[in-house]
Amino acid sequence: MARSGRPKPLSVAIVGSGPSGFYAAEALLRDGGVAIDLIERLPSPFGLVRGGVAPDHQSTKQVVRAFERTAEHRAVAYFGHVELGRDLTIDELRGLYDAVVLAVGAPADRPLGIDGEALPGVVGSAAFVGWYNGHPDFAALSPPLDGRRAVVIGNGNVALDVARVLVKSPAEMAVSDIAEDASAAIAASPLEEVVLLGRRGPLEARFSQKELREMGGLEAAEVALDPGQLPAAVPEELPERARRLAERNLAVLRGFRAVGGGTGKRRRVRFEFFARPLAVLGRTRVEALRWERTALVDGRLRGTGETGELSCGLVVPAIGYRSRRIPGVPFDAAHGRLRNREGRIGPGLYCVGWCRRGPSGVIGSSKQDGDQAAAAIRRECEAGPEASQNGKAGRRGLRRLLARRAVTWVDYPAWQAIDAAERAAAPAGAPRRKFVTVEDMLALLERPSGGGGA
Ligand SMILES: Cc1cc2nc3c(=O)[nH]c(=O)nc-3n(C[C@H](O)[C@H](O)[C@H](O)COP(=O)(O)OP(=O)(O)OC[C@H]3O[C@@H](n4cnc5c(N)ncnc54)[C@H](O)[C@@H]3O)c2cc1C
Repeated sequence: MARSGRPKPLSVAIVGSGPSGFYAAEALLRDGGVAIDLIERLPSPFGLVRGGVAPDHQSTKQVVRAFERTAEHRAVAYFGHVELGRDLTIDELRGLYDAVVLAVGAPADRPLGIDGEALPGVVGSAAFVGWYNGHPDFAALSPPLDGRRAVVIGNGNVALDVARVLVKSPAEMAVSDIAEDASAAIAASPLEEVVLLGRRGPLEARFSQKELREMGGLEAAEVALDPGQLPAAVPEELPERARRLAERNLAVLRGFRAVGGGTGKRRRVRFEFFARPLAVLGRTRVEALRWERTALVDGRLRGTGETGELSCGLVVPAIGYRSRRIPGVPFDAAHGRLRNREGRIGPGLYCVGWCRRGPSGVIGSSKQDGDQAAAAIRRECEAGPEASQNGKAGRRGLRRLLARRAVTWVDYPAWQAIDAAERAAAPAGAPRRKFVTVEDMLALLERPSGGGGA
């Protein structure tokens, strides 16, 4: 449906090209009459689908096919390697566009809040996952993999991802797009055990059944736990859906071996429930993790006073994420996300995805945010004072601003060239060999501006 009564399309800047940015673009395109500029700090699009979703879960990454179609739409332009806060300000964007949608995610690790957390060898899951996924921010991370044990703190799917990637064999990872350096470092490591430490019990863990089941089928690693930590049954009083999920997960966990036995596999993953981290120990780097046994009393978590130490060389907290502050945008420090009311931050300014809701949900969970933002933009821009002005410079203005600042950007054809080069360089069986630095991506392009810059 074409928009009526407007001499030119509604101009919208979407900042961030992860799932939520693309879902917002899709929703806006549905009603037409819109010009969308996707602004992304990296040359590469797709956010955590490229840099978070595990490299051995290629089928999950297929969602980018739909995002690619959106990016190729004639009403959409991609401005990669342009960062809000570094290359331009929120006020400048709001001056250029009828509406601005922030889709910047939640890229920072939530702190553990315990002593020793700053020691070298404590590597948050955002950084660790970014490293093995070839995210340019973490190309030089070089996490210490010289120890025999690593501890992953958290009982969600990200913790499972980290543990699985650490123990899979090179043959298992050969069909993934894991960063080359990470793959080599993990393969060469003397690592024997990854402990998955959870404060609560198996019933409270937020593993999805599919990911949990996958742990039992690893070629080079066994999975072990203390059967005494598994409850005999799931409490009747749990809501139906939660009860079914807990029952299924419990059935999977019962299938894992008891700690102590062995199958002769090179590595193992050990689930340690009811243990909360107390302190990271070490003089100049991580040497051990001190933990305390917990119990759930009337649904509340209590320390029991019983403590233990796990010697380890690497601690990966996987306990959640926070958004980063953007100068000029209100921030909800308590929840680590942008301050908003149902996705609206202020006149003409919206947010979607993890920076709106916090770091929970799967890729598709951001669809609804996009629909709501698109509907609100239509309502507000067509009814409000902005509609009558209709004088915003939009894409032309952005190009002029970037050119004035000598900011070169990567447009969509330039990204496609990078994508093609990665695919062409793929080792046998793998989907691609990733560029892990921005410099390498830009060097590939004949013209660093991707044909669209200053
Ligand atoms: C380790 C991990 C594994 C996951 N695995 C799965 C899975 O298997 N299946 C599943 O369904 N979900 C999975 N998820 C969840 C899924 O990735 C998220 O739900 C989804 O990516 C959130 O989308 P988003 O657009 O809000 O944020 P993101 O995907 O983080 O996208 C944000 C984008 O904004 C860009 N950006 C940030 N700041 C700026 C700035 N200032 N200027 C310009 N650009 C900026 C970033 O570079 C990024 O591209 C996983 C998440 C993690 C962390």
